[in-house]
Amino acid sequence: HAKYRVAVIGSGNWGSVASRLIASNTAKLPSFYDEVRMWVFEEILPTGKKLSESINEENENCKYLPGIKLGLNVIADPDLESAVKDANMLVFVTPHQFVEGICKKLVGKLRPGAEAISLIKGMEVKMEGPCMISKLIADTLGINCCVLMGANIANEIAVEKFSEATIGYRKDKEVANRWAKLFTTPYFLVSVAEDIEGVELCGTLKNIVAIAAGLVDGLDMGNNTKAAIMRIGLREMRAFSKLLFPSVRDNTFFESCVGGRNRRVAEAFARNGGKRSFDELEAEMLHGQKLQGVSTAREVYEVLTYRGWQELFPLLSTVHEICIGQLPPTSIVEYSEHTPNLS
Ligand code: NAD
Ligand code: 13P
Repeated sequence: HAKYRVAVIGSGNWGSVASRLIASNTAKLPSFYDEVRMWVFEEILPTGKKLSESINEENENCKYLPGIKLGLNVIADPDLESAVKDANMLVFVTPHQFVEGICKKLVGKLRPGAEAISLIKGMEVKMEGPCMISKLIADTLGINCCVLMGANIANEIAVEKFSEATIGYRKDKEVANRWAKLFTTPYFLVSVAEDIEGVELCGTLKNIVAIAAGLVDGLDMGNNTKAAIMRIGLREMRAFSKLLFPSVRDNTFFESCVGGRNRRVAEAFARNGGKRSFDELEAEMLHGQKLQGVSTAREVYEVLTYRGWQELFPLLSTVHEICIGQLPPTSIVEYSEHTPNLS
């Protein structure tokens, strides 16, 4: 019987929690090797120690997930090549802006037959059009890549609060089920859906809607407005996804993630009247963790402009214009007078 070896590429907040979750399963399930290698983008801590060494000594990521033991079978490895070389199951979980560079370094270094899954929320916009991160991974490395997305705030999963996630796959259900087995725990319920674009776009676009919700909070506009913005946002997410990929299914769109960092930083942005930039607030509030919503809003905006779809998606466009300071935070509700009927 084949036995699988898992490597996790990324060790931020979600990367660390995903490693912990996976390691709790590989330690128990006979079809997986116990050890989970976690690639760490090396940095030097204020103590002068390397982050990867500190993780291996303390069994804890003191920078991105302080206070949580990862499991002794999680091994931090700052060398990308060595982290992946024996693995046949690769979990990608870095901020989306770093994926392309990482994949380029991995070309020709993977074990034949390796499978990948992406936990990354984001997209890249290329000359040829938008490219989802799972496709970027699959195309650059010539491997199959599923996705796993959900309303999954890492810090809540770290303390084993119940949540759900969906694995999106393209054709191979057996592989999707293997990933589901690797991730499922009593507090993390995983289902599979043959709608990779729908699942990935849902996870990705929700970060823009989370920013819109945060702006509403920062402007103290109240719950009705927030509910309206989220509903309009969800409708735009679904319409945008279906325009890009007609195969996307309606019932993939259930995710909501308004407890996360994107909402929180957007609230602070609005409370400051848009006078302090997202970059500045991100650095100050997140200590090295990264927002995906601001760059995703920019990437989506490029797609909208290029295709002449801007007027169809006032919320998605307005979020970007607010993020770059072109419009004031209060515009988040003003555009809705012009909202078209997307059905
Ligand atoms: P994070 O934002 O907590 O941390 C940033 C990470 O980026 C760190 O590991 C840092 O070492 C790394 N990094 C910084 N510069 C780098 C570089 N030049 N090259 C490579 N890596 C570099 O990370 P995260 O929360 O694990 O987020 C990863 C992905 O997971 C994102 O797409 C995010 O949207 C998604 N996600 C996050 C959560 C969550 O609650 N944190 C939940 C679901 C999905
Ligand atoms: P934030 O990046 O806004 O914290 O959201 C994390 C997430 O995607 C949870 O599903």
